[in-house]
Amino acid sequence: MRKIKIKTFYTDKQVCFDSIREKSFSQSPLKPALLIEKIKKSSFASMLDICDNFAPISRADFEIAHTKEYIDNVFNMTGNYRSNGLPWSENLINSLPYTTGSLYAASKYAVENPDTVCFAPISGMHHARPNSGTGFCTFSGQVISAIKIYEESGKVCAFLDLDGHFGNSIEDTRNFNPLLNKAIPEGCNYNPSGRNESYLSCFEDNLKSLARLIMEDKIHYVVFAHGADSQDQDDLGGYMNTEYWVKCAEVFANWVNEVSDAKKQLLPVVLSLFGGYRKDNYDAVLNLHIKSLIKCSNIICGNKFVDNLVIPDKHSIV
Ligand SMILES: [Zn+2]
Repeated sequence: MRKIKIKTFYTDKQVCFDSIREKSFSQSPLKPALLIEKIKKSSFASMLDICDNFAPISRADFEIAHTKEYIDNVFNMTGNYRSNGLPWSENLINSLPYTTGSLYAASKYAVENPDTVCFAPISGMHHARPNSGTGFCTFSGQVISAIKIYEESGKVCAFLDLDGHFGNSIEDTRNFNPLLNKAIPEGCNYNPSGRNESYLSCFEDNLKSLARLIMEDKIHYVVFAHGADSQDQDDLGGYMNTEYWVKCAEVFANWVNEVSDAKKQLLPVVLSLFGGYRKDNYDAVLNLHIKSLIKCSNIICGNKFVDNLVIPDKHSIV
């Protein structure tokens, strides 16, 4: 039996409040706070069990995926410190050990407690490279987290990256730290493509091949990164309409149950956020993420939340 609440690794320390609303195209550094606030005030508040006392990762942990020079640049405002495309602030750099800390804590908890679906409300990771940031991403948190978990427990991860953009940081780090090939094996960074029906069937194919690896004990836990920018009203995205986007969460959640039944063992699951950009209506981004969480909560954890959230089209906004 799964625990009914999604264990959520969230602290205000993982949020950058400084300069994001006014100066940044990407609102992602602020997104965890906006999302958690919104859920707390909604009828879905009981969906989450929030844990706020997880540890940040250390400075040395960043070296798992990055050169010392780049890490120093980010923290000291030197060289390519703005390669992430975000306004630099003390608040931003202080939040970074906690964003990766959130994903690491969620992954560790899920691996050790497979009956608990875990949630790391994080974005801004999957475009970073060993020696630079890219596309609103500063550090490769998913690489760091997966390698730490692998080194500690031997557990191997697959990423289901449904963001609207390819998660290059995993592939770009394979040479820099070959341990990554053990922590997230070649071919296990899934990034479906296509439009609507073809996207969904590509994702279903991905899930089928991943299920085989799980049955063979080659993959031990999965991270579902349901970026909102793969939905077609997004400012930077557009693979699917809302119906198909939400369907992906439903397909994923049912698949988790099927794989767990087939293996007679609960599959450890970590949920995360990744991208999402709507200048006209940021609430639509938050609502998409909540819709995805509701599907997972209802199908995997056995709840009955009623999803009444609306995602307006861009042209319908006055
Ligand atoms: Zn994206």
